[in-house]
Amino acid sequence: MKAILVIADGMGGRPSDIDGKTCLEAARTPNLDTLAGRGATGLVDPIGPGIRPGSDTAHLSLLGYDPYKVYTGRGVFECLGIGMDVHHGDVCFRANFATVEKVDGGLRLLDRRAGRIASGQDELAAALTDIQLEGIRFEFRASTQHRGALLLRGDDLSARITENDPHKVGAMLPDSVPIDAGDAGSALVAAAVNDIARASFALLNDHPINSKRRQEGKHPANIILLRGASTLPHLPSVKETFGVRGAVIAGGALYRGVGLACGMDALYAPGITGGLDTDLGVKARTAIDALDRYDYVFVHIKGTDNAGHDKDAVAKREFIERIDREFFGPIMEGLDWKSTHLAFTGDHTTPIDYGDHTAEPVPVLFVGPNVRSDTTTSFGEREAATGGLCRFSGSILPMLLNYNNWAPKFGS
Ligand code: ZN
Ligand code: ZN
Repeated sequence: MKAILVIADGMGGRPSDIDGKTCLEAARTPNLDTLAGRGATGLVDPIGPGIRPGSDTAHLSLLGYDPYKVYTGRGVFECLGIGMDVHHGDVCFRANFATVEKVDGGLRLLDRRAGRIASGQDELAAALTDIQLEGIRFEFRASTQHRGALLLRGDDLSARITENDPHKVGAMLPDSVPIDAGDAGSALVAAAVNDIARASFALLNDHPINSKRRQEGKHPANIILLRGASTLPHLPSVKETFGVRGAVIAGGALYRGVGLACGMDALYAPGITGGLDTDLGVKARTAIDALDRYDYVFVHIKGTDNAGHDKDAVAKREFIERIDREFFGPIMEGLDWKSTHLAFTGDHTTPIDYGDHTAEPVPVLFVGPNVRSDTTTSFGEREAATGGLCRFSGSILPMLLNYNNWAPKFGS
């Protein structure tokens, strides 16, 4: 038996998206409708009713973990997802190249994403290797656009510090401070975050790449901002719990990192970007091929959430139509449906009018030989509310693996 879990980030919507319909309801999705007809649908509260999920906590919950017990923060998934070797005790961060200007009394934020810088990040990262920190080793890696990850390694470090990203253009950069006064490990990490901010500005502000960016009228990437401080969580792997091997296919480092933290292998393929421009056909073929080597595959698709954050209903509806055609088209053809179970859902709702995550439950679809099919024949929020799976919280991956008879028995 094989299993495939597909999560379209922020897929859920509200009737205010498009003329009384959600983007998913408004989209033409013949393949998903066929799968809904063959399988069963329902609604899933990613974490629980009324809880607004972050993408990281929602994924942990959908993969069968209790995020209230295991979640340490976002940075560690970014570091894992970017390919860093994370040890227990390391403090990990999500990093942004940003733009600041020097004013009396400190640095003022001009652009959290440094004009969404698209080239030269590796040269800027190389300049940062000159930074020396007292008693702490650090590693910084740039990923896509303004994104990056940073890891601190030393004795008895603590992630309990405040971030130095003010999140608001025009605001002064705050210093990072320990959350618990008097704790030596967090004092050391907060000092390192502040040293990295000051030193990165000194090294990057007049870097030739930034001089060129200024000439071109672009914002310079002249500082590294750090957030999501966290240590490696203690997660029993899917292999330990279910005895099966899986792989994650995701363009976004955060999602690759969550899969890696749960014991999956990360698969890469050209054209997978983690954005609206991703190659969904490559994703489908990579997943189909991977099922020859792995028991299950987890595929993450990010563009739905990007369009939701951009409040772009047309882009979200069209991207859902592309998922149906370019991803589920090859999946319908390429999977052995006699021996494969598939689950498809979102990790939360990202309504167009709000432009951020909300807590409404998201439609979910299971299909495969052991699924008791229901009477739903299309895939959307309100149709799924009438489906045979009813409404439940999290645990999509354990439910999927149960259909393959891989779930461990609780009790005797
Ligand atoms: Zn998400
Ligand atoms: Zn989001």
